Amino acid sequence: MDGLLVTRFAPAPTGYLHLGHVVNARHVWQAAREAGGRVLLRIEDHDRQRCRPEYERAMLEDLEWLGFTPDDVSRQSERHAVYEEALEELRRQGLVYACDCPRAALTEHEPGTDGERRYPGTCRGRGVPEGPGTGLRVRLDPAIVRFDDLRRGPQTQCPSEQCGDLLVRDRLGNWTYQFVAAVDDFRQGVTLVIRGDDLLASTGRQIQLARMLGRSEPPRFLHHALVMKSPHQKLSKSDGDTGIRDLRARGWSRDEVLATARENPAPGHRVLPV
Ligand code: GLU
Repeated sequence: MDGLLVTRFAPAPTGYLHLGHVVNARHVWQAAREAGGRVLLRIEDHDRQRCRPEYERAMLEDLEWLGFTPDDVSRQSERHAVYEEALEELRRQGLVYACDCPRAALTEHEPGTDGERRYPGTCRGRGVPEGPGTGLRVRLDPAIVRFDDLRRGPQTQCPSEQCGDLLVRDRLGNWTYQFVAAVDDFRQGVTLVIRGDDLLASTGRQIQLARMLGRSEPPRFLHHALVMKSPHQKLSKSDGDTGIRDLRARGWSRDEVLATARENPAPGHRVLPV
């Protein structure tokens, strides 16, 4: 692809920075450095119930300590107007409808193709009035989305089979991850998305959404391996032992943290000394 490479690091401040983030950051900054491109730091604080300012502050401080300096910083909580405008665009196309399915009903839905819960379109065409307590969904036609992952090769996904009509705003008024990620990657001119393998299934639906919003050329994608706590358990923010704060408090140097986040351990090995 011609032009400047623009990639992004997009943590959600729902916990502290951990080794999984550092693996991702290494990939992101390395790609930008090699191509002379830009890194956008995007704080994904769209979930007002789960995000906390103290986590954001700690993440920014840990990133600085690690030496990851972004070219730009933005917050999703400050981009409401951009999301409203994208929603309007979808409304103009007649693709948005309100959904009042209770959460409990959603968990009973049939699994989609990846074992993910698929929304069967219960409220499509029901004319549910929009109001407090209703979510908003966008109709997905049964398109097949193909893309070439830079590490995993050609991928074929059918979002309408995997997840069904996408929630863009939830019952509490929060924009959803899938929607804001697709809008931001488009509106911020991101040309390369680098993230963990756990988000591979989200890519087809984000490409489909971006197309609906008028993006003619989607970004390229690279999904890297995840750091595993043990062979079948991925790291999570609740694993205090891999939090960068805790490692720092235990006397780890910056180089030790970066080296530990360099590679996945061999199968059967833990990332960290026990
Ligand atoms: N905010 C997401 C996370 O922390 C990352 C999303 C993405 O890279 O698309 O898992």
